[in-house]
Amino acid sequence: MRVVVVGAGLAGLTAAADLAATGAEVTVIEARDRVGGRTHGIEVAPGGWADAGAAYLGERHTALTTLLAELDLKTTPATVGGAARFALGGEPGTGRFPPLSAVALGGLFDALEELAAAVRPEAPWLSPDAARLDATTAADWAAEHLTHPDARLFFPLFAGEMMAADPADVSVLHLAFYLRSGGGLRYLNAFAGGAQEDRIDGGAHQVCLRLATRLGDRVRLGEPVRAVHQDATGVDVVTVTGVTRADAVVVAVPPVLADAVEFRPGLPAPRSGPGTAPGCAVKVHLVYPAPLWREQGLSGWSVSADGPLLSTVDDSPANGSAGVLTGFVTGAQAKAFAALPPDEQAGQARAQVARLFPGLPAPDACHVTDWLGERHSRGCYAALFGPGDWLRLGPRLTTPHQRVHWAGTETSTEFFGLMEGAIRSGHRVAAEIDATWRHNHD
Ligand SMILES: Cc1cc2nc3c(=O)[nH]c(=O)nc-3n(C[C@H](O)[C@H](O)[C@H](O)COP(=O)(O)OP(=O)(O)OC[C@H]3O[C@@H](n4cnc5c(N)ncnc54)[C@H](O)[C@@H]3O)c2cc1C
Repeated sequence: MRVVVVGAGLAGLTAAADLAATGAEVTVIEARDRVGGRTHGIEVAPGGWADAGAAYLGERHTALTTLLAELDLKTTPATVGGAARFALGGEPGTGRFPPLSAVALGGLFDALEELAAAVRPEAPWLSPDAARLDATTAADWAAEHLTHPDARLFFPLFAGEMMAADPADVSVLHLAFYLRSGGGLRYLNAFAGGAQEDRIDGGAHQVCLRLATRLGDRVRLGEPVRAVHQDATGVDVVTVTGVTRADAVVVAVPPVLADAVEFRPGLPAPRSGPGTAPGCAVKVHLVYPAPLWREQGLSGWSVSADGPLLSTVDDSPANGSAGVLTGFVTGAQAKAFAALPPDEQAGQARAQVARLFPGLPAPDACHVTDWLGERHSRGCYAALFGPGDWLRLGPRLTTPHQRVHWAGTETSTEFFGLMEGAIRSGHRVAAEIDATWRHNHD
């Protein structure tokens, strides 16, 4: 069996590795000149890497942790002791918890947990009241249900941090599904014991690098797939450099990018809709000789209402090569920030960190990674399903189109949007193709 995999992110490479293990003749075709997709490493100091894309994982991410063990990669704790800095109105202050009403935040979390508990994670479009929840934006839900000013202040920060979402861009059904799919709000939101417990030592990009190394010259870079043409005996995958013939194809790219590929025969329905928005995330890495904030009893964690960095965390490489504060610009802030010239972006980030951490010297370097501008990702962390999307797109997300099969974190109802979802989708699609082939040839 000959299989072409479109996309060398975690989903595509996992699928390729599984299929190769069954004896299939696999070719992976990747648009970029690197593998990894939404995982990407930046060398911030000699031998010191920071994650410009995905970084964190928790113990429930079992497909990822199994893969890490197979690839001989280690994790390092993401949590750092010490106090945080909060700028949620007025001058920045130091503390352990945001200086907001615990009752208001508890009420917000309970309301969100209630929404998530009612979702059918394997088929959100069949959830009770799905049509109404799918037609309502999270911003409209917040305007109706959140009365306390602290809950109103915190909700967009939370949606930005958790999903890189502007609440105006996602339906309540998507918000509730995302929380449920990722293990619940409190798991998703937590560092210790939650989805941000660990990082991959040396950078998450190494997972795809190691998978690709094993596949060798079966991975082709710098070839965006333009078209997929099927006939009675097989399928042609078309790039600028030529045509590759296969028996089956895995398309492991985000839904909006799948819609940019020409399919013949055409897809019965698009994989994204007018309401499908790109996740809005810009990551900023401020590099210091060492994690100097720790000497002041600070963890490096900060939360700001005004931005552009809505939060910062300590992502210093475990090998001690540098101190790294990662700033997250997400949601509506990211749209405005992404439109600024690079100098201004770096200037605003440096100025904000100087206000938040006045005891620190100026950083040695500032790296800005704008995922909105990445044309082979079109936003991150993942696609945001807007009003109407789940009911229209959900039932067909994983349905094969004859010889074309679908993967990618957006096709996973478990840990949607995360590395874990991408890897699970890769395993799922490889098993699906193998089973179809055996069914047709036994
Ligand atoms: C800033 C940021 C922070 C994140 N944080 C986390 C985190 O902490 N934890 C976590 O678990 N997840 C996180 N994520 C999400 C995680 O990165 C993704 O869920 C996961 O990497 C998606 O993998 P994928 O294989 O589905 O898609 P991708 O990684 O997007 O792979 C798709 C590949 O297809 C290629 N491609 C696109 N179009 C074509 C075409 N026409 N032809 C050929 N190739 C094509 C792309 O170049 C890409 O390499 C984050 C993402 C970002 C960007």
